[in-house]
Amino acid sequence: MKIIVSEIPEEGLTIDVEETIHSELVKIVSPVRASLRIEKRDTEVLVQGEVRAEVELQCSRCVQSFTVPVRSPFSVVYDPAEVINREENHSLKGDELDMGFYRNDTLDLNDLLLEQMLLNIPMKPLCRPECKGICPQCGKDLNAEKCTCEVSGIDPRMKVLEQLLKRKE
Ligand SMILES: [Zn+2]
Ligand SMILES: [Zn+2]
Repeated sequence: MKIIVSEIPEEGLTIDVEETIHSELVKIVSPVRASLRIEKRDTEVLVQGEVRAEVELQCSRCVQSFTVPVRSPFSVVYDPAEVINREENHSLKGDELDMGFYRNDTLDLNDLLLEQMLLNIPMKPLCRPECKGICPQCGKDLNAEKCTCEVSGIDPRMKVLEQLLKRKE
């Protein structure tokens, strides 16, 4: 969905959106929904709201795919890209606000929603906090089955010593 900035009314806009968004960065498996409040001050646009969607991630331990809900509240101030370099004073500027810019009088809400979702997706996702992952030796999924590999944190050089000690017994 695109918003024409010059058409935002004086009193602002309160809208609910539901969009289908595709991204190469994350697999979005539900419609992307958001409740938004959009206000304009001269050329600046303040967008506040919350975006919700379900995404499919790959567990960083066991490599299984799983689906998680993402919920991201946000506040972003947009300035026109044309003036962003020469204008230093922004009436809505605050440290707590994210900044963005728009071009050609158009604000692309899908870009905004996707960006806000990506900010809230974990870098190293886990299918569950206690995921056991896969065995580094045989590659079995340790959540599903146990393997017989000897899992020892012993340094290979220490292993020689361990065998020497065993021989003594
Ligand atoms: Zn996992
Ligand atoms: Zn194993």
